[in-house]
Amino acid sequence: MARVIFLGTASALPSATQDNSSLLFESNGYYLMIDCSGTPYRKLLHLGIDTKKLQHILITHHHVDHCYALPSLVECLWIEGREEPLHIYALRSAIAIIEPLLDLFDLRHRMINYFPIVIHPIDGDENEFIFQNANFTVRSTPTLHALPSVATKITFPKGSTFVYSSDTAPCQTLVDFAKGADNFVMECTFCDEDDQLAELTRHLHSSEWGDLASTIGADHTFMIHHSDVSFCSYQRVREEISRGNKFPSQKVTIPRDLDEFVIE
Ligand SMILES: [Zn+2]
Ligand SMILES: [Zn+2]
Repeated sequence: MARVIFLGTASALPSATQDNSSLLFESNGYYLMIDCSGTPYRKLLHLGIDTKKLQHILITHHHVDHCYALPSLVECLWIEGREEPLHIYALRSAIAIIEPLLDLFDLRHRMINYFPIVIHPIDGDENEFIFQNANFTVRSTPTLHALPSVATKITFPKGSTFVYSSDTAPCQTLVDFAKGADNFVMECTFCDEDDQLAELTRHLHSSEWGDLASTIGADHTFMIHHSDVSFCSYQRVREEISRGNKFPSQKVTIPRDLDEFVIE
């Protein structure tokens, strides 16, 4: 069984009901986290997940809302007595932030009862192979954002594919990478009236989201990285997307925090 759990769905500004965007994938009882924000350790406990089965974390880019919870998660796993290695994958530009962030709290080199943190650089090539094991095959591709960022593609044991755009403006690399995916999660930070702000900060606004979702044509497309309290509210983005109705044959979902969906 494979499933995705939306640990958070907000843009950089969380709301009373939304944490910053972060995804958790399960395959055969093992877990892969994409981005690390909010209170990940508490959510893993809330979901009844054995934290030792979380072995891989991929950070898509080093904007604060996508990586700030890494030190607290590592600290919690250390207190818990973890011995299993934790593999972290990130662009070199993000590693330049992540390593000092962990070192600020002395989290990588403690001598007592400590588990290895193995940091793997992502080069930022198109359709780059990241890692493969019995549960996940992971690839990434560069997107167009205010700083270097990657979209991620996960292929599960039975062949289902799941693509997550992370933060991006419209770009051909994302279309090439996501086309034909079974499931596709795409950000939508702004409503259409804030199109100039979207262009300036290299995010998507509603109609761009609809155009891209239609072009990519995944069986099931999810929208995240919006906020109840800023820019593009949940209600408003839902209205703008349904008004466009550009993809009548596709399933479109705007998940809330902790919603989960079976993948295969
Ligand atoms: Zn973001
Ligand atoms: Zn960002």
